[in-house]
Amino acid sequence: MIQSIETILVDVPTIRPHKLSVATMNTQTLVLVRVLCDDGVEGWGEATTIGGLNYGDESPESVKVNIDTHMAPLLIGMDARNVALVMAKVRKVIQGNRFAKCAIETALMDAQARRLNIPLSELLGGRLRDELPVAWTLASGDTRKDIAEAENMLELRRHRIFKLKIGLRPVVEDVAHVLAIKKALGDGVSVRVDVNQAWSELDAVNGIAALEAGGIDLIEQPVRAENKAGLARLAARFAVPVMADEVLHGPRDAFELATHAGADVFAVKIAQSGGLTPALQVAAIAQLAGIDLYGGTMLEGAIGTAASAHVFSTFANLNYGTELFGPLLLTEEILIEPLQYRDFMLQVPNKPGLGVQIDRDKLAFMRRK
Ligand SMILES: [Mg+2]
Repeated sequence: MIQSIETILVDVPTIRPHKLSVATMNTQTLVLVRVLCDDGVEGWGEATTIGGLNYGDESPESVKVNIDTHMAPLLIGMDARNVALVMAKVRKVIQGNRFAKCAIETALMDAQARRLNIPLSELLGGRLRDELPVAWTLASGDTRKDIAEAENMLELRRHRIFKLKIGLRPVVEDVAHVLAIKKALGDGVSVRVDVNQAWSELDAVNGIAALEAGGIDLIEQPVRAENKAGLARLAARFAVPVMADEVLHGPRDAFELATHAGADVFAVKIAQSGGLTPALQVAAIAQLAGIDLYGGTMLEGAIGTAASAHVFSTFANLNYGTELFGPLLLTEEILIEPLQYRDFMLQVPNKPGLGVQIDRDKLAFMRRK
């Protein structure tokens, strides 16, 4: 039986300013959810967002209010071992709130997998791999700084895929910035861009042509999410793959995009999908439609990152790797043993549940009072 559900906010400074077309982040607010069951088993989930309301319609504070006030009373007393039934109730009674729902589902699945003494991935159908390639985002906005940061990551053998956040400056300036970085890093390194919807379709035609010619190998969400037809036209026009991100909020969007050849690659995010099960459905639709996958992040801390890793480890067509570097962008660790990054890969935890342990003393000290 579900005994209690607690939502905890933790403000953690980032290691450097993280510049997006919609916001510059200096702090990340982790939204952690702890579900305690009457058999003594507990589970953890995370509903962290990027840039709060600058990015989407859920903020850390709204997630907390909605879970504490509306979801917890609905679920306390239900059978914690029947995650499907609990989530069916949440999804039936509560509209929207994808991040909050994802955190609840993650916590319940974590608890259930711990109960069964298996890693979460095995509850989700089973992992196909034990490690995931991890991209790093270069988002200082300064060409020299970005090149130095990338070279350092290559030397540390932590990342060899780099995603550049662009869209704030005029297209020609952004393109020059990206191509200078690509040139400095050379052929063996993957350089990609995320425009975060900042371009008009005409900007995108010009920008993508130049980026494709310069060897950039993935273009993420160049135009507004509402412009689905435009995204499809860009995907059809260019050989370089065009990836859907902000336009993709779960299985329904995935189905529509797949039906209209709306993108070449899907960036799957567990929270944007509305949970672990909907993320698996997005992946199944993509696989059937011949669309490749990329494992996205909302810059979650270790809990959301571990949950994502378990989900992505089950994807057959994960051909563009992941960007599960969230914990590496934070100045504080909330796990007793941090997630393991080595040789350009994140190791998918293999202990029961999420396979991670929260440092309770640290969390008690760091949580927002
Ligand atoms: Mg993106």
